[in-house]
Amino acid sequence: MEKPAFLDRDRPDVPGLVVPGGVTPFYLAGRPVRGRLIRLGILADAMLTRHDNPAQVTALAGKALALVAALASALKFQGSFSLQIKGDGPVSMLVADCTHDGALRFYARTDEDALNTLLARNPTPTDKELMGNGYLALTVDQGPDMERHQGIVEIAGDDLAAMATHYFATSEQHACWIMLACTMTDAGWRSGALVLERIAGEGGTLDTSPTAPDGTTQADDNWETATILANTLTVGELLDDTLPAPQLLHRLFHEEDLHVSQSRALAFGCRCSRARLVDVLQRFPEDDLDHMCVNNDTIVMTCEFCNKDFHFPRKDIASATS
Ligand SMILES: [Zn+2]
Repeated sequence: MEKPAFLDRDRPDVPGLVVPGGVTPFYLAGRPVRGRLIRLGILADAMLTRHDNPAQVTALAGKALALVAALASALKFQGSFSLQIKGDGPVSMLVADCTHDGALRFYARTDEDALNTLLARNPTPTDKELMGNGYLALTVDQGPDMERHQGIVEIAGDDLAAMATHYFATSEQHACWIMLACTMTDAGWRSGALVLERIAGEGGTLDTSPTAPDGTTQADDNWETATILANTLTVGELLDDTLPAPQLLHRLFHEEDLHVSQSRALAFGCRCSRARLVDVLQRFPEDDLDHMCVNNDTIVMTCEFCNKDFHFPRKDIASATS
């Protein structure tokens, strides 16, 4: 006998993969720089191929996953970091989020006709051309007891890394250097990110005194040096499963007093469940529930993150509103 929906807390059948060293935090001692190296490894392929997206959209989504993994790993409390982009391009909606403990998910909505029209004109569109004009929002959600923090900026820049850098510069007044990559390799889809953040100097004293005639400080020089070194990173290195993260970071920053911290895991992690979806359904009046029925007896709800349909017998769902 089928379990009543309200008792069923089963997880959908989704990839159970965990990538142990997915996030590697680091900092450059005595310099106003901290960063994270993100590599999704086999998780990128498992998550991205679960959705039937065109390759260009898959590459964009993979970069979004690496970006939210990098941003969520800086959360100081339990919660999640979510990226939402809405535009008037062929990819009208892109959502990716990651929790403080590395649970990732995403979905993208694509108008395939509009995408084919774009590709006929330009076979290698930029992220900006895929998404068009619109808005990028980043939301930090730290649970019901904390206020949600959301910043929204217009889409600006050719690629997602530039858009995110623009977001931090304008919405958060925070200097960041961001590289994102996602591509099909011999081993399948891979995605990764290198993110540098400029932080206040140690004890707040590092930034203050200009050391050069043009007014730049030692901290300015240190930040510039770090970004110049980061710029030497290639996509091949970033996405190379056989090159360990500490070794890659050492290659880039060994002359900058690099300290590599304990790496953390990433995994697929949607928060949907049959029980949660029933909670949503119960908010509708009985009439609406009747209209949602297929074949008079079943309601189908799709989790867009998991790309999975959940079927509920209509008789199991009682409206809480009537
Ligand atoms: Zn889900």
